[in-house]
Amino acid sequence: MTEQKDTDPSTKEGIRYVNLYEAEDKVYVRRITGFYQRLRRYTGIPLLLGFLLMPWLVIDGRPAMLFDLPTRQFHILWTTFRPQDGMYLAWLLIIAAFLLFTVTVLVGRVWCGFTCPQTVWTHMFLWAEHVCEGDRNKRIKLDRQPWHKEKVIRKSAKHGIWLMIALITALTFVGYFMPIRELIVGLITLDVHLAAAFWVAFFTGATYMNAGFLREQVCKYMCPYARFQSVMYDKDTLTVAYNYQRGEPRGPRKPKDDYRAQGLGDCIDCSWCVQVCPVDIDIRDGLQAECIDCGLCVDACDQVMERMGYPRGLIDFTTEERIETGRSRGVLRPRFLAYLAVLLVMMAVFVNALSSRLPVGLDVTRDRGVRMYRISGDTVQNVYTLKIDNLDRSTHVYDLSVSGDYPFEIQGYRAYPVDEGDHLTIAIRVAVPRSELTEVKTTITFEVEARDNPDIRARHSTTFIGPQPRG
Ligand code: SF4
Ligand code: SF4
Repeated sequence: MTEQKDTDPSTKEGIRYVNLYEAEDKVYVRRITGFYQRLRRYTGIPLLLGFLLMPWLVIDGRPAMLFDLPTRQFHILWTTFRPQDGMYLAWLLIIAAFLLFTVTVLVGRVWCGFTCPQTVWTHMFLWAEHVCEGDRNKRIKLDRQPWHKEKVIRKSAKHGIWLMIALITALTFVGYFMPIRELIVGLITLDVHLAAAFWVAFFTGATYMNAGFLREQVCKYMCPYARFQSVMYDKDTLTVAYNYQRGEPRGPRKPKDDYRAQGLGDCIDCSWCVQVCPVDIDIRDGLQAECIDCGLCVDACDQVMERMGYPRGLIDFTTEERIETGRSRGVLRPRFLAYLAVLLVMMAVFVNALSSRLPVGLDVTRDRGVRMYRISGDTVQNVYTLKIDNLDRSTHVYDLSVSGDYPFEIQGYRAYPVDEGDHLTIAIRVAVPRSELTEVKTTITFEVEARDNPDIRARHSTTFIGPQPRG
């Protein structure tokens, strides 16, 4: 733990100067239990189980969640998205970004503190560290000791558990990009694509390094969200804060002391809040970009307050406004309401677009050759190129029809079966008796319909060009 002393030459007039190339000291996090620690467990376990089990789930004979990059198909639950559906993915990403903004305005960095994979995996690795090497003081002592048999066993056990968690994580993650059963069988029988083996090794190493060694440095220096989240804050954003009005002046005292008479506040300067902090900051220094709102310092300080017989909540999830004035505007804030309104509109548009998504695509282009139309006897013909995309999850044969203001007739269309994800491109002619045509240009509408399911249909309108009508 680095303690900043007033005599430190890097500190001048309250400003701490940091050498960016200086090696970070190892952070020994004290284990703490409490409300927020339990809350993280209850929110983390379902998310973790969802992440681990989803690649094993099978719907319609295929993985429930599979991003099949070589075939450019994303299987998500009962739907398969293809490159033509890129708009939905873009919408989804924009909605996710706005959801994050809205939640941040309201409750600060709860995503970071409770659900971010970096936090969840770091806590799993900390648990393994605690099980194998003991709590903070034992770990500090063990690290200072020279190598001996027990130290080797404890360290090996810890790294063994870390590697196992990292390997399971990597297998699961790669299992979102190739069927996980094939992946695992392939790895066991050494019959797997080299790229898959590389990515499993890469993500095992990345998880091991991130959660085992980089930890808080990812949040402090690498995460882009940490850099810009402060612009979304206002004075009513819920965040972990130290009630300096109540806590200062801080100082040690005995439980029975009349500390008020000694001119002291409620903070006994025990530094527990710093020792439990996974990003190694002192919340008493004020709101800091590094704080991930994990609430561990709240649990630690509440325990100290209880032991001292003081009210809990010296450090708490609160707002700047409440600390200063004792009041807070809650959700009735322009910034939050604006984000919420945009989010709700986007979600409504997305749900509407998704529910009206057609499992077949039809595109028709009129032949723009030298001759816009052909005359054959008493009929006028236009040539069109039809592209039928089968976006469904089974093979279909499509019937084609045409409608308009004149008795149009399709020539040259044969209904072939189109496999799922495949498309049929075909040239056809549309003819109309010349005597019937009274316009040079008219609208014509094509419609395809799956022979085995009339609900699967799509329409496309274009133009039909003919000669000047006679007399
Ligand atoms: S845990 Fe509470 S009492 Fe102890 S130093 Fe932190 S704020 Fe002060
Ligand atoms: S200051 Fe408190 S809430 Fe912020 S990261 Fe540290 S322990 Fe978590």
